[in-house]
Amino acid sequence: MNGSVTDEPETVSELLAAVRAQQETVQRLVHLLEQRQSEPPPERPDPQQRWPIDWDVISGAARAVAWQSLGAFVEKIVLRYNLQFDVLPCWWQHRNAVMVLTSLWEVHLHTFGEDANLLSNNTFLDNLNYRIEQLRGIFMSCREEHTDSTPRTWMSDATRRAFQQMIASET
Ligand SMILES: [Zn+2]
Repeated sequence: MNGSVTDEPETVSELLAAVRAQQETVQRLVHLLEQRQSEPPPERPDPQQRWPIDWDVISGAARAVAWQSLGAFVEKIVLRYNLQFDVLPCWWQHRNAVMVLTSLWEVHLHTFGEDANLLSNNTFLDNLNYRIEQLRGIFMSCREEHTDSTPRTWMSDATRRAFQQMIASET
């Protein structure tokens, strides 16, 4: 074998490999630094917002901000915890899903707010696990497409009259 010819390229290729590995390390570092700079600041409860959110009361610009923030939160937890089969994209059309997700959002804001501590992740995961079955149940009828399951009438006029008569009979 012509050893002197093959030895040199090997050394060069080893050097090149070492340089390439270093370049990759530097690129990874630069990428990480860029990522850290572009990350939004940690979430803090909006000081302008009155907590807890009451969807029956909140209106105007505050309502728009709350919807946007809740939407961003829901998308974040769906992607972070692989909840795409538990929370469907029609969540905002289900009043009970909005209520449950709002409560999870508030738990998240609280546990990761100024009092964040080593148990914050644990607290949030416990709450998420506790709510996940409830969320799955809400979307049972929406597997193919969104189905409105809001009851049109809960109490008939006759039942309502009977209720009022019962009150009248007791007072
Ligand atoms: Zn639906």
